[in-house]
Amino acid sequence: MTNKDLANVIFPNITKTIEDYEKEYPKRNLSDGACVTRIAPSPTGFMHIGNFMQAVTNYVIAKQSNGIFYLRNEDTDKAREIEGAVELIIKTLKQYDMCPDEYEADGKVFGNYGPYIQSERKEIYHAFIKHLIEIDRAYPCFCTTEELSEMRENQETMKTRTGYHGRFARCSRLTPEEAIEKINNGEKYIIRFRSNGNFDNKFEFNDLRQGKLFLNENDIDEVIMKADSMLPTYHFAHVVDDHLMRTTHVVRGEEWLPSVPKHIQMFEAFGFEAPKYIHTPLIMKKEGESLRKISKRKDPEASMSYYDELGYPTLAVIESLMTIINSNYEEWHTANPDKKFTDFEFSADKMSTSGALYDLMKLDDISKNIISKMTKDEVYEESLKWASIHNDSLKELIEKDVTYYKNILNIEREQEKPRKDIAKYSDIENLIWYMYDDIFYNKDKEYEWKNITDKQEIKNILDTYLNKYINLEDKETWFNNIKLMCDELGYASNMKEYKKNPELFKGNVADVSTVLRVALTSKSMTPDLFEIMNLMGIDRTKERYSKIS
Ligand code: GLU
Repeated sequence: MTNKDLANVIFPNITKTIEDYEKEYPKRNLSDGACVTRIAPSPTGFMHIGNFMQAVTNYVIAKQSNGIFYLRNEDTDKAREIEGAVELIIKTLKQYDMCPDEYEADGKVFGNYGPYIQSERKEIYHAFIKHLIEIDRAYPCFCTTEELSEMRENQETMKTRTGYHGRFARCSRLTPEEAIEKINNGEKYIIRFRSNGNFDNKFEFNDLRQGKLFLNENDIDEVIMKADSMLPTYHFAHVVDDHLMRTTHVVRGEEWLPSVPKHIQMFEAFGFEAPKYIHTPLIMKKEGESLRKISKRKDPEASMSYYDELGYPTLAVIESLMTIINSNYEEWHTANPDKKFTDFEFSADKMSTSGALYDLMKLDDISKNIISKMTKDEVYEESLKWASIHNDSLKELIEKDVTYYKNILNIEREQEKPRKDIAKYSDIENLIWYMYDDIFYNKDKEYEWKNITDKQEIKNILDTYLNKYINLEDKETWFNNIKLMCDELGYASNMKEYKKNPELFKGNVADVSTVLRVALTSKSMTPDLFEIMNLMGIDRTKERYSKIS
């Protein structure tokens, strides 16, 4: 009996050959230099920021080369599968305007290289495994879990490298007859790849991020097909799928780097060219003085839902990741403020070689900048969209008087130096509540008086202002009036003079403005006071001032 017979016993119904599949999924007809990239999520949980960073990298590589960015659902671990996990990822990508060119969802397949769900590709894997068995590069292994753990214990006592290799690879020595007999006896088996590597040999591997590496050859006969489901393991599916889907660049987490030797070996066994690899760094965060990996369990920002719930503009999240994907992104962006992130020329060797530090303060800065450049109408639309899903009270506030809300947003906006106080849509309510009388009067609030705290003096300033100086015609007149009032009340209207001889004055114009600001809003820090007063109007200002006692 031959290996061919063994292959037929294991896969009696598989008639298609790997050549058939080569024809079915020909090399893609793309322009020179076009890259084919993919994300390959396992449906085991929420979308992690690390996966998203890989998605952004893949997306940029594909888009800037006029290539293809596709999504493959790696659902071979049925026990760990969480329903809806990949759908959530697709939804997130769409929300970020990074919809894959090819994917499969809701029973619909987009693209010609599918199925894009691994559990639907069983027949393909079987044809490829059948081929390997025929050429003696794969074999069934009947070792039980108990036998394998016993082997491992022995290896540990003997202080030899653990794993199914060399003389430990018992089933690799079974003849086709012996294997067929065991199968006919109903013994359970998995399929292993027959490695031809020597662990003591090194080979050169070029990771596009880390450069030239010298890795040990693999000599472990890796499991390529599991017993019960007859589905492939990640390693095998990676080789078959990325070949047939004609992936040119595999961007994946660096936890896969140690598996490269076996992947390369499998590509070689088929005579396929391996794709180029970029193994991405882990995302780290600062904790005190040290760095640690962002953790699913401890850090809410590890999940993409965090950014959604807080209402960060999607572009801010993408750009904050671009700054850690490529160290020169920020410089490029400053020089090319109007270009899209996909115009940036990504280079893998500019990715951080150690972990990638993700800094939420940086995200806030980027986001404040982006929101500051939006028009009031854009902020209105985006914030309403966000509030409709995440914050009823803001939604109500917006809808109560859209024009008024837009006018509030327009304070210090659509100008050369716009205000930069909104980092995320969830900040807005806290920044504008005092503009609404019903909230203002009903809220438990503290007036943030600064230098002038004497109630009598405060009243004096407010009364004088209302009686003699309030004037909302234009900003210059308005401010001149405040200065005039300062002169009348013994405050310095000129800061230089005040600095020279502070003892001559009760305080200065900034102190007086603060009184006017705090009495109106309760806050010592607000956007432009003239614009706020103007928007509220004289009557509401009077009313608020009269309530100070
Ligand atoms: N399904 C693998 C994972 O989630 C994908 C790795 C890859 O991109 O090849 O880690």
